[in-house]
Amino acid sequence: MRVLIISDIHANISALNAVLEEAKDIDAAWCLGDLVGYGPDPNECIQSIQALPNLTCIIGNHDLAVLDQLDVDAFNPEARVSIRWTQRAVTPFSIEFLLQLPKTAQIDRVTLAHGSPRHPVWEYILDAATASMNFEFFKTPLCLIGHSHLPVVFTLLKNNKTVEQSVPTPNTEFIIPNRSILNPGSVGQPRDRDPRASYAIYDDAQNTWDYRRVNYDIQSVQDRMIEAGLPERHIQRLTAGW
Ligand code: ZN
Repeated sequence: MRVLIISDIHANISALNAVLEEAKDIDAAWCLGDLVGYGPDPNECIQSIQALPNLTCIIGNHDLAVLDQLDVDAFNPEARVSIRWTQRAVTPFSIEFLLQLPKTAQIDRVTLAHGSPRHPVWEYILDAATASMNFEFFKTPLCLIGHSHLPVVFTLLKNNKTVEQSVPTPNTEFIIPNRSILNPGSVGQPRDRDPRASYAIYDDAQNTWDYRRVNYDIQSVQDRMIEAGLPERHIQRLTAGW
């Protein structure tokens, strides 16, 4: 089964369309949260994601904030502006869809969590030390996360203590080591200084992770963000991939 892995789409339909066009033949799609927030296309992204085959989707902190289920004051002022804008823009259909998303999911050998298995909504796994504390919080061989917008693989070595951190090379495929926590990067707002949309294809039979980056029309998203009056910093950062 070829599974499309997407995370942190952040209401960027241009990036999501580029990913879906390139990924083509997929049997299932797993989405790791933050479908909305920052970008200008929340409803278009939700429409597109809910129509993906065999979808499993979990909720992210921005999705919860849009639903008023998280304190908006916990976000920085510019993120707050974008959350308020999104709250006005979302349709009842979009709200319905977000409302039924769970915080974590487990499918066969894989656990899904937006931030981390220990604290699914808020924790960032940015280093091996934080990753090592998280391995006891999921039982499956693999855990997929998003939230940091940074593509990375954390692997627990055979001694069950040391965690190795590696950043995969774009557009390469590798066999996933047991046990690992993997982040596919962000579709709609990459933060690793590579502005291309980031995603992965997981093949459960081969146990492979095909980590991919794809160009999309950044200018068109920025034009829609200007039109919507969304914060300047969020518009600019798409160009830099930060
Ligand atoms: Zn995010």
